[in-house]
Amino acid sequence: MNPDKSTLTFEQDPLAIAYPESREFWVAAEMGNLLLKTCDECGRAHWYPRTLCPLCGSERTQWKVGSGTGTIYAFSRSRRMDPPCTLAYVTLSEGPMLMTHIVDARAEDLKIGQAVSVQFRPTAEGRAMPFFSTV
Ligand SMILES: [Zn+2]
Repeated sequence: MNPDKSTLTFEQDPLAIAYPESREFWVAAEMGNLLLKTCDECGRAHWYPRTLCPLCGSERTQWKVGSGTGTIYAFSRSRRMDPPCTLAYVTLSEGPMLMTHIVDARAEDLKIGQAVSVQFRPTAEGRAMPFFSTV
């Protein structure tokens, strides 16, 4: 997703430098996969990704490819943003909830509980950022 080599490489990206443990996530995102940290101890996935499981405290966590699907828990149209955007909490099929943007849909057409799936769009820094759209 980074065909324009004028953007930063991963090694030049300030976010990647600050959080090297996130590298696997961003590499997978480049390939269209949403990784979730999953705990080997309690078996549950969590979001935001952490080294320690926030649900049981175990250090035995690993990245797993998530389904990339979920449902809208809540959403709000932000008209102050330019261009306006729709912020949402999405409950992933694996259980965790994340804050994201809903793209390619009008806020007035969205409903709580509506099915969504992940899609990745490039950031100015060249990262593939997960967003969600209706299915
Ligand atoms: Zn756990």
